[in-house]
Amino acid sequence: MRQGAAAPLHSPGMGDLTADLMGCSANGQVAAATNSPWRWLSQVRWMFDTSELGLLGRADMTLQVESTKLREGSQTLLEAKHHLHREGIGNATAPRDVGGGGYRWVVQLPIQFLVGYRDLNMRDAAHLGHAELLLLDDSWITRDELHQAVAGELIGVAATEPSGGSNLATASTTIAVPTPSGWELTGEKKWISRIEEAGAFVIFARVHDDIAAFYVRSTNEGLTRASLVPSGLTGWSWGSLVMNCARVRTTDMIGGATAGVSLFRRHFARYRPLVAATCLGAAAASIDHWVGFVLSRSDGGRVLMGGALEKIGQCRSRIILAISGLIAGALHTADPDPIWAKMAKAHSVEVALRAARSAARSMGAQSYEAEHPVRRILRDLEAFEYADGAVDPLFRSSGYAYVRQIADGDG
Ligand SMILES: Cc1cc2nc3c(=O)[nH]c(=O)nc-3n(C[C@H](O)[C@H](O)[C@H](O)COP(=O)(O)OP(=O)(O)OC[C@H]3O[C@@H](n4cnc5c(N)ncnc54)[C@H](O)[C@@H]3O)c2cc1C
Repeated sequence: MRQGAAAPLHSPGMGDLTADLMGCSANGQVAAATNSPWRWLSQVRWMFDTSELGLLGRADMTLQVESTKLREGSQTLLEAKHHLHREGIGNATAPRDVGGGGYRWVVQLPIQFLVGYRDLNMRDAAHLGHAELLLLDDSWITRDELHQAVAGELIGVAATEPSGGSNLATASTTIAVPTPSGWELTGEKKWISRIEEAGAFVIFARVHDDIAAFYVRSTNEGLTRASLVPSGLTGWSWGSLVMNCARVRTTDMIGGATAGVSLFRRHFARYRPLVAATCLGAAAASIDHWVGFVLSRSDGGRVLMGGALEKIGQCRSRIILAISGLIAGALHTADPDPIWAKMAKAHSVEVALRAARSAARSMGAQSYEAEHPVRRILRDLEAFEYADGAVDPLFRSSGYAYVRQIADGDG
């Protein structure tokens, strides 16, 4: 077993919990008593082996350190990502043959839960992120670009166009034209995350009647990046990307000239469950802040008001069942069904938002301060109603697939 496995996985028995409740009223112990993601993961521990639990323990310790440094402003998110990769956390589930840890993909789900619990802004700091698109094309396995990403370089994805992002297959603003030495990309992408920090982007562009994916360095002379101000998820930059005859080599295409949509679907089938787990982790943190608030207001035996315990219990049930379902659904595959992944993302975002809204509403004016942790979580979660697929179109896809399945008499 690797170092650090046992201690953070300790979840208190009833006796400990009672002691927590009695001892933490007005003496500063509230934060310590409520600041643990492990009380949320106890139902899923059996799904992981000793070495995976060890990894999770190490991941949480490192994430705690990194999130503290981020809060204090002593490092940037990109520095946190580099550190997490150096520690073998950010690339733990990348295959061994590209320099990763070779852990099962499903382990990334509790890692993302921990990330969300500690700081939602670290969501792409503790895994390969969109660099996984390169893994879907075997010819990239030995390439430096992929190895740099495994070492911590950030890769952005540029799919959404100003006319709407819900259906990549209909994207038409960005065109790739063949040249004697490769391709020339022209067009515009919008609402792109990590626009300044990314070392490269995977840009989706139309090639005749199809969509293809291209690896483009952010220093490419034909690229212009412009920042926008987001409402939430403010840690990383966000903005638009204009391609003006951006030249790339023939070998910078990922998959083939007709592979873009299927690469996008396969990638997001793996990426969306990670987003789902991250959102649930953040929601769990908002509940723990709420519990801290409740405990601080219930000293001296005062009766808790407003059905607080019922509401906390309800939010906790929804979050625990959502993360358990997510992990169970991913247990036996590293290549999840795209429709399942869409449902998982849309459902988890809704569960998480509901919980964070309940927490914020129940904590009174203090949670309305812009930098209050629950307010930040709420703003960040709201961004996920759009990012990585808007909730309504994701549910619509799932509804369509089910009706279609029954109409066709399948399984
Ligand atoms: C914080 C954040 C980060 C993001 N990061 C990235 C990124 O890194 N890379 C990237 O490529 N994109 C990114 N996006 C964009 C995101 O992927 C898109 O917002 C998402 O795909 C939905 O596209 P859209 O917002 O253009 O919505 P649209 O597709 O325009 O849909 C908006 C609404 O209109 C409805 N609608 C759509 N079509 C119709 C129709 N025909 N008739 C009636 N109603 C319709 C939908 O149901 C939906 O409710 C990010 C967005 C956010 C907010």
